[in-house]
Amino acid sequence: MLTEIRQSGNPLGELLPPLTRNEAAVEAARCLMCYDAPCTHACPTHIEIPKFIKKISTHNLRGSARTILESNLLGATCARVCPVQELCEGACVLGAEHKPIAIGRLQRYAMDYAYGNGAALFQRGEDTGKKVAIIGAGPAGLSCAGELAKRGHSVTLFEKRDLAGGLSTYGIIGLREPVEVALAEVAMLTKVGIKIETSKELGTNLSLPDLQSNFDAVFLSVGLGATTSLGIPGEEYILDGLEYIEQSKLDEHKLVVGQNVVVIGAGNTAIDCATIAKRLGAAQVTMVYRRSEKEMTAYAHEYDFIKREGVRFSFLTQPIRVNAKNGAVESVECVRESLGAADASGRPSPQPVPGSEFLLPADQVVKATGQERPHLASLLKLKTDKGFIQVTEHFETSLHGVYSGGDCIRARGAASTVMAVQDGKLAAHSIHERLVAHG
Ligand SMILES: Cc1cc2nc3c(=O)[nH]c(=O)nc-3n(C[C@H](O)[C@H](O)[C@H](O)COP(=O)(O)OP(=O)(O)OC[C@H]3O[C@@H](n4cnc5c(N)ncnc54)[C@H](O)[C@@H]3O)c2cc1C
Ligand code: SF4
Repeated sequence: MLTEIRQSGNPLGELLPPLTRNEAAVEAARCLMCYDAPCTHACPTHIEIPKFIKKISTHNLRGSARTILESNLLGATCARVCPVQELCEGACVLGAEHKPIAIGRLQRYAMDYAYGNGAALFQRGEDTGKKVAIIGAGPAGLSCAGELAKRGHSVTLFEKRDLAGGLSTYGIIGLREPVEVALAEVAMLTKVGIKIETSKELGTNLSLPDLQSNFDAVFLSVGLGATTSLGIPGEEYILDGLEYIEQSKLDEHKLVVGQNVVVIGAGNTAIDCATIAKRLGAAQVTMVYRRSEKEMTAYAHEYDFIKREGVRFSFLTQPIRVNAKNGAVESVECVRESLGAADASGRPSPQPVPGSEFLLPADQVVKATGQERPHLASLLKLKTDKGFIQVTEHFETSLHGVYSGGDCIRARGAASTVMAVQDGKLAAHSIHERLVAHG
């Protein structure tokens, strides 16, 4: 149960404590209950924020959770992981002169109450006799599944891993989202009759033609692939950042953290890896990035956080080799970079400075250099956009009756959980329209 999540003693336990009843009441009372509220527009799932906050102020927490779930079935996850500064809280009118309302924390307060008290949060609709297969049980797949079940369709989710939840379960650092939160949401969906078959992978033990003949529609929500390769000598000694985070959440006793850790990359995942290393005992953690501070993709608040954790940065630095002796890493050979003309990403391209090679001592190297594009696109011969699955405005792929959403279609803009949830919701609307229209 969410209420049992430990708050102390665990260096990777949830960073923000839950609001107390009094804190929640005081915070809810600050809300101006704006008409046509900017925060609701700024939330990608358009939760009616003033409405759920009003219900908190009248102690109707179950009603508040229902309001959240009407727009966003993963309200407990999003309350914790959304970059609220950039979204709802960033749009709060109080933010101009005072502190914005703590929307994320109030949302968490309502959702934790609902899960902690075993409330029945939504009902399955009357059976339509239609069947939908969903591939990948991350936020996009779970959201799509729940929305379809609300409309009475029978849904089976096929997931290649042992646990459902996608990156909420395996990839998001425990400081932001403990694994129990993601699994509670999965349990809520199975309670309304959504079937989840784990260890089922499209492309190995599942085939698209079989799914197409057994289901009325298919939704692909497979996320992205493994961490991209650097293609440098000694890469076999570099740990994969996603596995590093996964072990810290699910297999902490297996995770060995070095004393002098180098993290390659400067996005949000790299920051999470550096946080884990630092909090689990590394004496020194250095983040290495080939461009400058200005081009970092990590959110500003994450960058501020990691600096406060005592992590060092080496900007304009490109690793070119990992040196190891008897299997143990000793150093990372790097070259200094200067910034040239803009490349395809629109950012200045790093150019090696001749003769600037130097050694960075390290006993552990972790890479967090972004995820590969979804492999399934080429396997299924789907049309793509920059390597991502191409979809129409109705989330339909180039194959009739096969829909897609979440990170695997995100050719533009930053990928986030709340965007994946919204894709799943909108795709479910389109699938429903098609199934209803075709009787
Ligand atoms: C380290 C990290 C930290 C992040 N932190 C945040 C954050 O703090 N806030 C935020 O908003 N976003 C964050 N994100 C982004 C966010 O996690 C993703 O945008 C979101 O999870 C996307 O949801 P999804 O359902 O599209 O994909 P995923 O969560 O990746 O789920 C895809 C699922 O499909 C399964 N799958 C893949 N292929 C197959 C197949 N062939 N057959 C069956 N199943 C398959 C996978 O196992 C997985 O369960 C983070 C991402 C990473 C990597
Ligand atoms: S889902 Fe995310 S963006 Fe939307 S209101 Fe909740 S915390 Fe804000």
